[in-house]
Amino acid sequence: MFKSFLGGIHPKDGKELAKDRPIETLPLPSEVVIPMSQHIGAPCTPTVKVGDHVKRGQVIGTSDAFMHSDIHASISGKVTKIDMFPHSGRSGCQAVVIENDGLDEWADGLPLHRDWKEMGTDELLDAVQSAGIVGMGGATFPAHIKLNPSKPVDVLLVNGAECEPYLTADYRLMLEEPERIVTGMLIMGKILGVKESFIGIEDNKPEAIEAIGKACEGTGIHVAALKTKYPQGAEKMLIYVVTGREVPCGGLPMDVGVEVQNAATVAAIADAVREGIPLIERVTTVSGDAVRNPKNLRIRIGTRYRDVIDYCGGFSEEPDKLLAGGPMMGFAQYTLDVPVMKGSSGILGLTKKLTDHGPERPCIRCGRCVKACPMGLVPSMLSILSQQQDFARARDDYGLMNCIECGSCTFVCPAKRNIVQYIRLAKGEIRAEMAKAAQKEEKK
Ligand code: SF4
Ligand code: SF4
Repeated sequence: MFKSFLGGIHPKDGKELAKDRPIETLPLPSEVVIPMSQHIGAPCTPTVKVGDHVKRGQVIGTSDAFMHSDIHASISGKVTKIDMFPHSGRSGCQAVVIENDGLDEWADGLPLHRDWKEMGTDELLDAVQSAGIVGMGGATFPAHIKLNPSKPVDVLLVNGAECEPYLTADYRLMLEEPERIVTGMLIMGKILGVKESFIGIEDNKPEAIEAIGKACEGTGIHVAALKTKYPQGAEKMLIYVVTGREVPCGGLPMDVGVEVQNAATVAAIADAVREGIPLIERVTTVSGDAVRNPKNLRIRIGTRYRDVIDYCGGFSEEPDKLLAGGPMMGFAQYTLDVPVMKGSSGILGLTKKLTDHGPERPCIRCGRCVKACPMGLVPSMLSILSQQQDFARARDDYGLMNCIECGSCTFVCPAKRNIVQYIRLAKGEIRAEMAKAAQKEEKK
């Protein structure tokens, strides 16, 4: 057993709702809405126009910016609109609407049949870049950039923890398609030239540990069975428990010689390299006590939540909260018109029974948030300083920017304070300040 980290919590995980539901493929919708921003970095610009006919896997958006990831058509059909649409992570975003022609025709030359063992490092990296792969655990960092670190990396660590309550998509993928994950890890290991590769899985998923363990036989990849504790899947926690290395404040995994990637992303990398298949679909958990039939679905990017929820039998009760992602780190949505994107790990509908925690009250200085914080911060002070709009003090004296927004503090707070929301607000203000200062510098 690997060691644990300080802090963390044990929320009710709700995984029983979907964990035994095998992955089903959602029938193709009549149209998809594909946002031009599905990654960290510059949004893409559409490379198609209204009236064009596109095929599955064709590039429909790109950018000149270094930090971006190309966007591809997820179905074949006619481009009917390019406009602003709802987006699950921001107020709105330019998107390309494709009307399904019912043919689901691949773009010319796809899929390919390549032997990755015969491919050189540059060729492998090109394949990942061309396929528009981004971190599918929610971080959405372009994978080709992460796979080309500026510091030497000797450990590859794949995140199969899936510690967010309710989410079971990675679990089903590890159980049903372990070969894709293991092949992706071997490919990544070759690109990075690592000495050791691990996949970390929480010990509440013994079937996944067994399936991945079998697929790893003879490969030299280690399966790390981790203690079940939230946020075990956070990059810094995972690195610490598996390798014993501590990422410095403000640092990155590569600062301690580690590359971390999510299990679903690794599987997508295998498809991109072996078959040239771009990231046009993903497995997403649809769950929560308001969803009539929770499922794990393979969904084409751009499918609206409405189509997904309909396929799951609709809501059995009006949800109080619709979430993109898990209940700890996900984002509340106001409409079912948002589309599934590359980073959509879950769609949750939760009733008032689970969301109504009563009114927020003043801090009673109980210290529970401090005990729960895996980053060793003082969340109570961060939230108070944010309320007082003293963002600079929160950053300089209380390490605001080290917060990983895991929500553990909010979860344990008896005064029901929305600590993580205050922290997000403060971090947003600091980032906006920094962007303004950078713009000023550029103008000089
Ligand atoms: S302060 Fe940040 S890192 Fe600490 S528990 Fe709260 S959300 Fe998590
Ligand atoms: S858990 Fe809540 S009430 Fe207790 S110290 Fe933290 S913010 Fe205050």
